[in-house]
Amino acid sequence: MNVLFNKLAHFRSICFRVRSTSPRVVLYRCYINRSAMGRRKKANKPPPKRKIIQALDTMFNCPFCNHEKSCEVKMDRERNTGFITCTVCLEDYQTSINYLSEPIDVYSDWIDACETANT
Ligand SMILES: [Zn+2]
Repeated sequence: MNVLFNKLAHFRSICFRVRSTSPRVVLYRCYINRSAMGRRKKANKPPPKRKIIQALDTMFNCPFCNHEKSCEVKMDRERNTGFITCTVCLEDYQTSINYLSEPIDVYSDWIDACETANT
């Protein structure tokens, strides 16, 4: 009986060891996955950042005085109106926008309006 009990106790201790080490293994695997995902995120992140910087670029070349990056766009989302003003020659233009519009759309509308006015 004693031998059997000892064997059981030994088996239990093995089980306990496995149980106590397995969460560590799981944690270690999670850590590996996280670090791998972290690396992937880092590798994938720079391109979207560049896109955001481009989207936030609200300074454009002026079609009137030809100054570079002198035209500032302001998006009035509540009134669905986009304003563009040249900080050098103070030419301005406003156009209707929607929730998808970006500053570049206001600028391109201005260029189109200039071209139609010139023709
Ligand atoms: Zn200008």
